[in-house]
Amino acid sequence: MGTPFKELAELCEKLEKTTKRTTMANLISSFLKKLKPDEIGPAVRLIIGRIFPAWSQETLEISWRTVIKIIKDLTGASNKDISEAFSKTGDPGDMAKILMEKRKRAKQTTLLQSPLIILDVHKYFLSIASAKGPGSKKKKESLLYGLLSRATPLETKYIVKDILGEMRHGVSEGLMEEAIAKASGASLEQTKRAHMLLGDLGDVAYIALTKGVQGLKEVKMRLFHPIKPMLAQPAENVKEALKEHGGKTAFEYKLDGARVQIHLKNGKVAIFSRRLTDVTQSLPDVVKLVLEEIKADEAVLEGEVIAIGEENKPLPFQHLMRRFHRVKDIEKMIKEIPVQLYLFDVLYLNGKTLIDEPYIKRWEYLEKIHGNIQLTPRIITSDPEEAQSFFEKAKSEGHEGLVAKRLDSNYTPGIRGKKWLKIKGILDTLDLVIVAADWGYGRRHEWLSDYYLAARDEKTGEFLVIGKTFKGLTDEEFKEITKRLLELKITEVGGTVYVKPEIVVEVAFDEIQRSPKYKSGFALRFARITRIREDKSPDEADTIERVREIYEKQFRSKAKINSL
Ligand code: ATP
Repeated sequence: MGTPFKELAELCEKLEKTTKRTTMANLISSFLKKLKPDEIGPAVRLIIGRIFPAWSQETLEISWRTVIKIIKDLTGASNKDISEAFSKTGDPGDMAKILMEKRKRAKQTTLLQSPLIILDVHKYFLSIASAKGPGSKKKKESLLYGLLSRATPLETKYIVKDILGEMRHGVSEGLMEEAIAKASGASLEQTKRAHMLLGDLGDVAYIALTKGVQGLKEVKMRLFHPIKPMLAQPAENVKEALKEHGGKTAFEYKLDGARVQIHLKNGKVAIFSRRLTDVTQSLPDVVKLVLEEIKADEAVLEGEVIAIGEENKPLPFQHLMRRFHRVKDIEKMIKEIPVQLYLFDVLYLNGKTLIDEPYIKRWEYLEKIHGNIQLTPRIITSDPEEAQSFFEKAKSEGHEGLVAKRLDSNYTPGIRGKKWLKIKGILDTLDLVIVAADWGYGRRHEWLSDYYLAARDEKTGEFLVIGKTFKGLTDEEFKEITKRLLELKITEVGGTVYVKPEIVVEVAFDEIQRSPKYKSGFALRFARITRIREDKSPDEADTIERVREIYEKQFRSKAKINSL
């Protein structure tokens, strides 16, 4: 008999009730130590709100509408019961628990209804994901029905939270790394490094707890398992970047396209998006180019794919998104929206992991193998004027700005640090998640057109609203988003549709204000949507911490103006 899922749910309850980091890490660590080897990976993922490994291409493909329908079927709850339960807690998991506790329909007991173990839950999810093709919708539905009909109210709460991917108990990836280190006796550094290379905490925990420190030390990057991309912090201008990087740095064009990670081994190529989704099928032209040009048997490369229009001018990002994820009529799409690949990094080459090599060295490797594929335009300089004119050149050619890269910096997957600084020269924007929407008025009455925009609270994992807007989208986009939001609907309370946090949008604003209106304590002034970030997942949205930083920066510059 395996470990009951109930124990995992109870652990999450305890985690929800404490905010002390060490207590939380200790609780998780003791739990992990009790698990059987094959339970470790699934359990770690379920605790942090993931169902599949971060690098995996599996998805449940079950709409939130279906989840609600099943809960209704199981409990006999009406729409009114649902919105009441939701209003009480504001959390879909708690809502499901309340409905299960008050279920109006008696639970059917059969011999099969033995308590769920962790591996049962894991297997149900695997079966739901693998139901594909005709009839799969029904099959998925009956599998989820089977799973939830065996779950207690508390277990339902966490199954629902896992499906939603929002746990709200405050276990970040960093905290899970601490717990794994503690449980296995490895150092935090060893654990972090393995995480960077494997890209999934379930895999890291499995190795740490079954093979120990030695196992972690032997971890290597795996071809065709994408790793999280290294990210950049914003800098105001080239001067600030030069100062931060010790007086001399590399400035590369910041191309306004989509990040790609390309894995190549002996004639096989896979291309992954920034969300680690396999987009190989949508980009056969890029695959061909890589196969023809890259002078290596094995490599992991990084770069940006941009859409190009007349005279090879970059087209806005929206055009490119039409190419990504597209698997039908590819030949037609290649003609309609030609793309260009620019490379800027190499992370693995012919059996050797390069992430610990300095930037300058990795670029040298890239120069040796790129063939006729373009490298991202760059200069290395210590001269602010030269840097400024390079910035202006990038902008005048239709690019976003520059990325400054510290010459001696290693590659840190998944980290947004100061080793890379992005310079865009425009006001800040925020990437926020739509968590609810109001029905529009007048011409817009058939659309969900006023969106509640939320930033992520890194401490709790909760999405906190900081503003509302109906500005910035075209009619077509309103229609499309309305359709998607209705698929993600959790419940409707007084004209407001609450949704699963899934859609990320880039938002421009005039100012961030302190405001008691929202729980976050912040409110955006004149927010407007500038693009839909198909390439970002909700856990990559901006955080409340970043909102606070911008607020404080704004505050400081206002104080400066006032003191002049
Ligand atoms: P933004 O919203 O400003 O595009 P982001 O939040 O998507 O930024 P950042 O880490 O802030 O991500 O900026 C890095 C992104 O910029 C990368 O993910 C990549 O898609 C893009 N990019 C364009 N040119 C470069 C470059 N030369 N080096 C690294 N990243 C680049």
